[in-house]
Amino acid sequence: MFDVHHSHTLFRPPAEAYSLIIRIMDGCPWNQCTFCGMYKGVPCRFLSVEKMDAEIAGARKTYPQAQRIFLADGDVMALSFEKLKAVLQRLNERFPRLARVNVYANGHSILQKSDAELRELRALKLSTLYMGLESGHEETLRAVKKRETAEEMIEAGQRAQSAGLKISVMILTGLGGQKSSTLHAAATADALNRMQPRLLSALRVIPIPGTELYDQEKSSAFTQLTEHQAMEELRQTIQGLELESTVFRANHSSNILPMEGRFPKDKNRLLDELDALLASGVLDTASPGAPPLSL
Ligand code: SF4
Repeated sequence: MFDVHHSHTLFRPPAEAYSLIIRIMDGCPWNQCTFCGMYKGVPCRFLSVEKMDAEIAGARKTYPQAQRIFLADGDVMALSFEKLKAVLQRLNERFPRLARVNVYANGHSILQKSDAELRELRALKLSTLYMGLESGHEETLRAVKKRETAEEMIEAGQRAQSAGLKISVMILTGLGGQKSSTLHAAATADALNRMQPRLLSALRVIPIPGTELYDQEKSSAFTQLTEHQAMEELRQTIQGLELESTVFRANHSSNILPMEGRFPKDKNRLLDELDALLASGVLDTASPGAPPLSL
Protein backbone atom coordinates (compact mmCIF):
# COMPACT_ATOMS: atom_id res chain seq x y z
CA MET A 1 0.00 0.00 0.00
CA PHE A 2 1.44 3.36 -1.00
CA ASP A 3 1.58 5.90 1.77
CA VAL A 4 1.50 9.55 0.66
CA HIS A 5 3.67 10.46 3.63
CA HIS A 6 7.17 10.91 2.16
CA SER A 7 9.87 10.43 4.76
CA HIS A 8 13.04 10.96 2.72
CA THR A 9 14.77 14.24 1.92
CA LEU A 10 13.21 16.39 -0.76
CA PHE A 11 15.62 17.53 -3.48
CA ARG A 12 14.89 20.41 -5.79
CA PRO A 13 17.04 22.57 -8.05
CA PRO A 14 18.19 25.85 -6.44
CA ALA A 15 16.18 27.80 -9.03
CA GLU A 16 12.97 26.26 -7.66
CA ALA A 17 13.38 27.86 -4.22
CA TYR A 18 10.24 29.95 -4.71
CA SER A 19 8.14 27.36 -6.52
CA LEU A 20 5.28 25.42 -5.02
CA ILE A 21 6.61 21.88 -4.73
CA ILE A 22 4.25 18.97 -5.15
CA ARG A 23 5.57 15.46 -4.72
CA ILE A 24 3.92 12.98 -7.01
CA MET A 25 6.56 10.28 -6.84
CA ASP A 26 9.32 8.98 -4.60
CA GLY A 27 12.88 8.36 -5.66
CA CYS A 28 14.41 7.78 -9.09
CA PRO A 29 13.53 4.91 -11.45
CA TRP A 30 17.20 4.35 -12.29
CA ASN A 31 18.92 4.98 -8.95
CA GLN A 32 22.21 3.39 -10.02
CA CYS A 33 24.59 6.28 -10.74
CA THR A 34 27.69 5.64 -8.64
CA PHE A 35 28.09 9.29 -7.57
CA CYS A 36 24.47 9.89 -6.53
CA GLY A 37 23.27 9.51 -2.98
CA MET A 38 20.00 11.37 -3.39
CA TYR A 39 17.62 8.43 -3.27
CA LYS A 40 19.69 5.60 -1.81
CA GLY A 41 17.32 3.19 -0.07
CA VAL A 42 14.25 4.99 -1.42
CA PRO A 43 12.03 2.66 -3.48
CA CYS A 44 10.84 4.36 -6.66
CA ARG A 45 7.05 4.76 -6.59
CA PHE A 46 4.59 6.94 -8.41
CA LEU A 47 1.41 7.93 -6.66
CA SER A 48 -1.83 6.61 -8.11
CA VAL A 49 -3.80 9.20 -10.06
CA GLU A 50 -6.23 9.50 -7.12
CA LYS A 51 -3.40 10.17 -4.69
CA MET A 52 -1.78 12.65 -7.04
CA ASP A 53 -5.15 14.42 -7.09
CA ALA A 54 -5.17 14.47 -3.30
CA GLU A 55 -1.63 15.95 -3.20
CA ILE A 56 -2.59 18.60 -5.77
CA ALA A 57 -5.77 19.47 -3.86
CA GLY A 58 -3.77 19.78 -0.63
CA ALA A 59 -1.19 22.02 -2.31
CA ARG A 60 -3.93 24.21 -3.71
CA LYS A 61 -5.28 24.84 -0.22
CA THR A 62 -1.83 26.05 0.84
CA TYR A 63 -1.05 28.24 -2.14
CA PRO A 64 -3.93 28.67 -4.63
CA GLN A 65 -2.21 31.55 -6.45
CA ALA A 66 0.89 29.55 -7.37
CA GLN A 67 2.39 30.46 -10.72
CA ARG A 68 5.39 28.15 -10.67
CA ILE A 69 5.18 24.53 -9.64
CA PHE A 70 7.99 21.98 -9.32
CA LEU A 71 6.92 18.35 -9.40
CA ALA A 72 9.17 16.05 -7.36
CA ASP A 73 10.98 13.61 -6.99
CA GLY A 74 13.78 12.39 -9.18
CA ASP A 75 12.36 11.79 -12.66
CA VAL A 76 8.75 12.86 -13.04
CA MET A 77 9.19 12.68 -16.82
CA ALA A 78 9.28 8.89 -16.39
CA LEU A 79 5.50 8.98 -15.84
CA SER A 80 3.60 7.69 -18.86
CA PHE A 81 2.51 10.39 -21.27
CA GLU A 82 -1.16 9.86 -20.36
CA LYS A 83 -0.54 10.19 -16.62
CA LEU A 84 1.72 13.20 -16.96
CA LYS A 85 -0.84 14.83 -19.22
CA ALA A 86 -3.56 14.13 -16.62
CA VAL A 87 -1.43 15.67 -13.86
CA LEU A 88 -0.72 18.79 -15.92
CA GLN A 89 -4.40 19.15 -16.86
CA ARG A 90 -5.33 18.95 -13.20
CA LEU A 91 -2.71 21.55 -12.27
CA ASN A 92 -4.04 23.88 -14.98
CA GLU A 93 -7.58 23.45 -13.64
CA ARG A 94 -6.66 23.96 -10.00
CA PHE A 95 -4.17 26.81 -10.29
CA PRO A 96 -5.69 29.62 -12.39
CA ARG A 97 -2.48 31.68 -12.36
CA LEU A 98 -0.21 28.78 -13.32
CA ALA A 99 2.59 29.83 -15.68
CA ARG A 100 4.98 26.87 -15.67
CA VAL A 101 5.60 23.42 -14.32
CA ASN A 102 9.19 22.20 -14.03
CA VAL A 103 10.55 18.71 -13.35
CA TYR A 104 13.71 16.61 -13.19
CA ALA A 105 13.86 14.54 -16.38
CA ASN A 106 16.31 11.85 -17.42
CA GLY A 107 17.28 11.46 -21.06
CA HIS A 108 15.66 8.02 -21.23
CA SER A 109 12.32 9.38 -20.03
CA ILE A 110 12.36 12.23 -22.54
CA LEU A 111 13.12 9.80 -25.36
CA GLN A 112 10.12 7.67 -24.37
CA LYS A 113 7.85 10.54 -25.48
CA SER A 114 7.13 11.28 -29.14
CA ASP A 115 7.69 14.77 -30.56
CA ALA A 116 3.91 15.31 -30.65
CA GLU A 117 3.61 14.23 -27.00
CA LEU A 118 6.40 16.59 -25.95
CA ARG A 119 4.62 19.44 -27.73
CA GLU A 120 1.34 18.54 -26.02
CA LEU A 121 3.02 18.55 -22.60
CA ARG A 122 4.56 21.93 -23.41
CA ALA A 123 1.11 23.27 -24.32
CA LEU A 124 -0.02 22.20 -20.84
CA LYS A 125 2.69 24.47 -19.37
CA LEU A 126 5.42 21.92 -18.79
CA SER A 127 8.37 24.25 -19.08
CA THR A 128 11.88 23.41 -17.81
CA LEU A 129 13.35 19.91 -17.74
CA TYR A 130 16.32 19.61 -15.37
CA MET A 131 18.54 17.00 -16.92
CA GLY A 132 21.79 15.56 -15.61
CA LEU A 133 24.17 15.13 -18.54
CA GLU A 134 27.05 14.85 -16.03
CA SER A 135 29.55 14.17 -18.84
CA GLY A 136 29.68 13.92 -22.60
CA HIS A 137 32.48 11.34 -22.32
CA GLU A 138 31.12 7.89 -23.00
CA GLU A 139 33.73 5.99 -20.99
CA THR A 140 33.09 8.22 -17.97
CA LEU A 141 29.32 7.77 -18.30
CA ARG A 142 29.74 3.99 -18.38
CA ALA A 143 32.12 4.07 -15.41
CA VAL A 144 29.58 5.95 -13.27
CA LYS A 145 26.67 3.75 -14.49
CA LYS A 146 24.64 6.52 -16.06
CA ARG A 147 21.67 4.95 -17.81
CA GLU A 148 21.94 6.81 -21.10
CA THR A 149 24.72 7.23 -23.62
CA ALA A 150 25.94 10.73 -24.40
CA GLU A 151 24.29 10.48 -27.83
CA GLU A 152 20.94 9.61 -26.24
CA MET A 153 21.11 12.57 -23.88
CA ILE A 154 22.07 14.91 -26.70
CA GLU A 155 19.12 13.67 -28.74
CA ALA A 156 16.79 13.98 -25.73
CA GLY A 157 17.88 17.57 -25.14
CA GLN A 158 17.55 18.51 -28.79
CA ARG A 159 14.10 16.93 -29.10
CA ALA A 160 12.85 18.59 -25.92
CA GLN A 161 14.01 22.02 -27.06
CA SER A 162 12.55 21.51 -30.54
CA ALA A 163 9.22 20.89 -28.81
CA GLY A 164 9.50 24.26 -27.04
CA LEU A 165 10.66 22.95 -23.66
CA LYS A 166 13.68 24.47 -21.94
CA ILE A 167 16.43 22.19 -20.76
CA SER A 168 18.54 22.99 -17.76
CA VAL A 169 21.58 20.74 -17.98
CA MET A 170 23.86 19.76 -15.11
CA ILE A 171 27.47 18.70 -15.60
CA LEU A 172 29.89 17.35 -13.00
CA THR A 173 33.43 18.69 -12.87
CA GLY A 174 35.85 15.94 -11.89
CA LEU A 175 33.56 13.02 -12.76
CA GLY A 176 36.24 11.36 -14.89
CA GLY A 177 38.71 11.58 -12.00
CA GLN A 178 42.42 11.92 -12.67
CA LYS A 179 42.21 9.26 -15.37
CA SER A 180 39.83 10.99 -17.77
CA SER A 181 39.79 14.67 -16.81
CA THR A 182 40.88 16.05 -20.18
CA LEU A 183 38.68 13.72 -22.23
CA HIS A 184 35.71 14.37 -19.91
CA ALA A 185 36.09 18.15 -20.26
CA ALA A 186 36.44 18.09 -24.06
CA ALA A 187 33.58 15.65 -24.69
CA THR A 188 31.31 17.48 -22.24
CA ALA A 189 31.86 20.78 -24.05
CA ASP A 190 31.15 19.05 -27.39
CA ALA A 191 27.93 17.50 -26.09
CA LEU A 192 26.75 20.85 -24.70
CA ASN A 193 27.53 22.58 -27.98
CA ARG A 194 25.25 20.12 -29.74
CA MET A 195 22.51 20.45 -27.11
CA GLN A 196 22.60 24.25 -26.80
CA PRO A 197 20.81 24.20 -23.41
CA ARG A 198 19.11 27.39 -22.25
CA LEU A 199 20.50 26.83 -18.76
CA LEU A 200 23.70 25.14 -17.68
CA SER A 201 24.90 24.32 -14.17
CA ALA A 202 28.34 23.04 -13.31
CA LEU A 203 28.70 21.18 -10.02
CA ARG A 204 31.85 19.55 -8.69
CA VAL A 205 31.73 15.83 -7.96
CA ILE A 206 32.31 15.02 -4.30
CA PRO A 207 32.21 11.35 -3.31
CA ILE A 208 29.51 11.03 -0.65
CA PRO A 209 29.54 8.26 1.99
CA GLY A 210 27.09 5.52 1.03
CA THR A 211 27.74 5.83 -2.70
CA GLU A 212 29.74 3.49 -4.91
CA LEU A 213 31.99 6.35 -5.95
CA TYR A 214 32.94 6.94 -2.33
CA ASP A 215 33.93 3.28 -1.95
CA GLN A 216 35.88 3.45 -5.22
CA GLU A 217 37.78 6.44 -3.93
CA LYS A 218 38.59 4.67 -0.69
CA SER A 219 39.95 1.68 -2.65
CA SER A 220 41.81 4.01 -5.06
CA ALA A 221 39.75 2.81 -8.04
CA PHE A 222 38.75 6.47 -8.47
CA THR A 223 41.10 9.37 -7.81
CA GLN A 224 39.52 12.74 -7.25
CA LEU A 225 41.00 15.83 -8.85
CA THR A 226 42.88 18.26 -6.69
CA GLU A 227 41.28 21.67 -6.21
CA HIS A 228 43.65 23.10 -8.79
CA GLN A 229 42.94 20.34 -11.31
CA ALA A 230 39.19 20.74 -10.84
CA MET A 231 39.44 24.41 -11.74
CA GLU A 232 41.70 23.62 -14.69
CA GLU A 233 39.14 21.11 -15.93
CA LEU A 234 36.30 23.60 -15.59
CA ARG A 235 38.40 26.11 -17.50
CA GLN A 236 38.94 23.59 -20.29
CA THR A 237 35.20 22.88 -20.45
CA ILE A 238 34.29 26.57 -20.58
CA GLN A 239 36.99 27.21 -23.18
CA GLY A 240 35.40 24.55 -25.40
CA LEU A 241 31.85 25.90 -25.11
CA GLU A 242 30.31 27.55 -28.16
CA LEU A 243 26.89 28.35 -26.77
CA GLU A 244 24.57 30.76 -28.51
CA SER A 245 22.22 31.71 -25.66
CA THR A 246 22.81 30.00 -22.32
CA VAL A 247 22.64 31.12 -18.72
CA PHE A 248 25.57 29.50 -16.90
CA ARG A 249 25.83 28.94 -13.16
CA ALA A 250 28.47 27.29 -11.02
CA ASN A 251 27.17 28.48 -7.68
CA HIS A 252 26.26 25.18 -6.04
CA SER A 253 28.08 24.76 -2.72
CA SER A 254 30.25 22.00 -4.24
CA ASN A 255 32.00 24.57 -6.43
CA ILE A 256 35.27 26.16 -5.35
CA LEU A 257 34.54 29.50 -7.01
CA PRO A 258 30.92 30.66 -7.36
CA MET A 259 30.46 31.80 -10.96
CA GLU A 260 27.60 33.04 -13.06
CA GLY A 261 27.27 34.44 -16.55
CA ARG A 262 25.62 34.33 -19.94
CA PHE A 263 27.02 32.72 -23.03
CA PRO A 264 28.37 33.87 -25.35
CA LYS A 265 28.95 37.37 -23.92
CA ASP A 266 30.53 36.40 -20.58
CA LYS A 267 32.73 33.53 -21.76
CA ASN A 268 35.98 35.52 -21.69
CA ARG A 269 35.15 37.07 -18.32
CA LEU A 270 34.53 33.59 -16.85
CA LEU A 271 37.86 32.38 -18.28
CA ASP A 272 39.62 35.44 -16.83
CA GLU A 273 38.14 34.72 -13.39
CA LEU A 274 39.37 31.14 -13.56
CA ASP A 275 42.80 32.20 -14.79
CA ALA A 276 43.14 34.63 -11.89
CA LEU A 277 42.16 31.91 -9.42
CA LEU A 278 44.50 29.34 -11.00
CA ALA A 279 47.40 31.82 -10.81
CA SER A 280 46.62 33.01 -7.28
CA GLY A 281 48.31 30.17 -5.45
CA VAL A 282 45.35 29.66 -3.11
CA LEU A 283 44.16 26.40 -4.66
CA ASP A 284 45.25 23.12 -3.16
CA THR A 285 47.50 21.33 -5.64
CA ALA A 286 47.85 18.18 -3.56
CA SER A 287 44.29 17.27 -2.58
CA PRO A 288 40.63 18.02 -3.40
CA GLY A 289 40.60 20.40 -0.44
CA ALA A 290 38.08 20.45 2.39
CA PRO A 291 34.58 19.36 1.40
CA PRO A 292 31.93 22.09 1.53
CA LEU A 293 29.91 22.36 4.72
CA SER A 294 26.70 21.62 2.85
CA LEU A 295 25.96 19.84 -0.40
S1 SF4 B 1 21.93 11.01 -10.79
FE1 SF4 B 1 19.79 11.19 -11.40
S2 SF4 B 1 19.44 9.36 -12.68
FE2 SF4 B 1 21.30 8.97 -11.53
S3 SF4 B 1 20.60 7.88 -9.70
FE3 SF4 B 1 20.70 10.06 -9.15
S4 SF4 B 1 18.64 10.85 -9.49
FE4 SF4 B 1 18.80 8.87 -10.57
